Amino acid sequence: MDKEQLKKLAKDPKFISGIYNYCDRWCERCAFTSKCMNYALSEDEVNDPRTQDITNKAFWDKLHEIFQVTFEMLKESADEMGIDLNAIDDKEIQKQEKKVHEIVENQLYTKAAFSYAKMVDDWFKSNNDLIETRAEEMLSFAQAQIPGTRPDKDALKIQDCLEVVRWYQHQIYVKLCRAASGMIRGELENNEYSPQDANGSAKVALIGIERSLAAWGEMLNQFPEQENSILDLLVKLKRLLRQVETAFPNARAFIRPGFDTAVSKRKMTRPRHRKTK
Ligand code: SF4
Repeated sequence: MDKEQLKKLAKDPKFISGIYNYCDRWCERCAFTSKCMNYALSEDEVNDPRTQDITNKAFWDKLHEIFQVTFEMLKESADEMGIDLNAIDDKEIQKQEKKVHEIVENQLYTKAAFSYAKMVDDWFKSNNDLIETRAEEMLSFAQAQIPGTRPDKDALKIQDCLEVVRWYQHQIYVKLCRAASGMIRGELENNEYSPQDANGSAKVALIGIERSLAAWGEMLNQFPEQENSILDLLVKLKRLLRQVETAFPNARAFIRPGFDTAVSKRKMTRPRHRKTK
């Protein structure tokens, strides 16, 4: 896809502008695929399996094409804004980026998110056998058709929890790093946009934390014998939630295009219940 095709696609009114900037990238579970330009673009690529294979030349050609188009568009925007990209001091930027990176890594909440991701890996390493045994157990229950048991329901619940935990495990850290760097850049560069954007990323991290909390809560129901290790994870996540709320007090109020605008519309149209006497 070239620059002009991309611009034409971006003007399509069916897409919600910027919706993909503050989502969790879980397209398989997203209700907005038909309104997301990013999804439309990725679908275009998925249709050609060669571009999904890192060992295939087509993958690298595609990546090159994306970089090329992105750079052309960046240059065009810079020209419109009167910015000469060649005049930018690379060394100064690298110095600043290093400084931002160091500050980001030293935030309590980024450290905690990193440590949570590692705890999850450790938990799965220690409990791999447990999950496999439970899967076999459920299969036996299902085959035996024991009255009063719903192994299929429990199996689906566990599968969902595992998927949720794994999906957000590293994303929480990544989103928090992005949020932290946005806040820091806002201060260093005195720009208004970065802190706004940072709140959006922090909100996505908060949502990931809350969904992970719910998933671990259900895991506790399913694996009560793992109470101690699961409670450790729950406590870690709860603390992280508080830390993020404290560091980004405006994150929850951030309106994510599509997700929050659609929710507020639903709320407005929700029917009122008459009060009972
Ligand atoms: S908005 Fe939805 S469809 Fe688009 S990238 Fe995010 S998760 Fe995927």
